[in-house]
Amino acid sequence: ALKRYASIRKEPALTLCGSRVALTMNAGLMADLPSLDSSGAEGVGLFRTELQFLVRSNVPRRSELAALYARVMDAADGKRVVFRTLDIGSDKMLPYMKRRDEPNPALGWRAIRVGLDRPGVMRMQLQALIRAANGRPLALMFPFIAQLDEFRAAREHVFNELEREERLGRALPEKVEIGAMLETPSMAFAPRQFYEEADFISIGGNDLKQFFFAADRENEHVRRRYDTLNVSFLTFLELIVKRCAETGTPLSFCGEDAGRPVEALCFAAIGLRALSMRPASIGPVKHMLRKSDLSEARAVIDAARASGAQSVRPAVMDWLRRRGE
Ligand code: PEP
Ligand code: MG
Repeated sequence: ALKRYASIRKEPALTLCGSRVALTMNAGLMADLPSLDSSGAEGVGLFRTELQFLVRSNVPRRSELAALYARVMDAADGKRVVFRTLDIGSDKMLPYMKRRDEPNPALGWRAIRVGLDRPGVMRMQLQALIRAANGRPLALMFPFIAQLDEFRAAREHVFNELEREERLGRALPEKVEIGAMLETPSMAFAPRQFYEEADFISIGGNDLKQFFFAADRENEHVRRRYDTLNVSFLTFLELIVKRCAETGTPLSFCGEDAGRPVEALCFAAIGLRALSMRPASIGPVKHMLRKSDLSEARAVIDAARASGAQSVRPAVMDWLRRRGE
């Protein structure tokens, strides 16, 4: 199997029906970057910047961060890297951050909520990213946006830091893309302006699914209780795809499910055209997509939905078996 994936490493994820799906990788540490080449990823769809903060015992300095981000961009060698600003709290606590005791940390003071309430670290991070780009294009996104004004406020920080860096005489990025992660169901129903103003949207499927089913992603008792291919969730994802299509907003999916071939196939069948995953998943997902016709997969999914199935998985698995897998 490994050989099979190696042989398609440089091939695109082109389906039998001619649809192109962009496959990128998730990363967070320098050690992940050699995988950019070996996996055949088209870029880094999610760079989890908090990992760098989590492996240390104190807050990194701006100069250290700028050097690190520059090395990441150097290693990517022109491929797009999407930096996610600090996503801390809940399942990702910093040892050196004063934490409040919260009864429900997953629903608590985390991610962009911390970033907006105590913007010091986020601003430093934005400065480091701008300096690291040093004239190159920059793509960044904010985690856990739950309503439009949070996205606007976060974006305002980017504009302010760009102005500040310019005043300091530094080279600004050639272009800046400012995206939002869609991780709370609220954003599927956000005003159209959200979809228009975000340069791109990336579905954080791990959190989105957790909140959609009200099932803690960290709790072994409920973690696997609800199928990602449950028709409710799939139909919900389809709504997000439709809203992005209406405004022409680029959409990707970067939760762990994107790295599972059957899930990835179903996501592509409902219209997703960009998936970001662990580097090791790129080969298997690409292989699955390259031998699939998305309109056939879509017909199987629609028939399962019409039949009242709870999940489309049995029907899709059955179709794959009949196809000879
Ligand atoms: C997600 O929530 O799906 C996601 C990509 O972010 P994280 O797993 O880091 O919360
Ligand atoms: Mg998340």
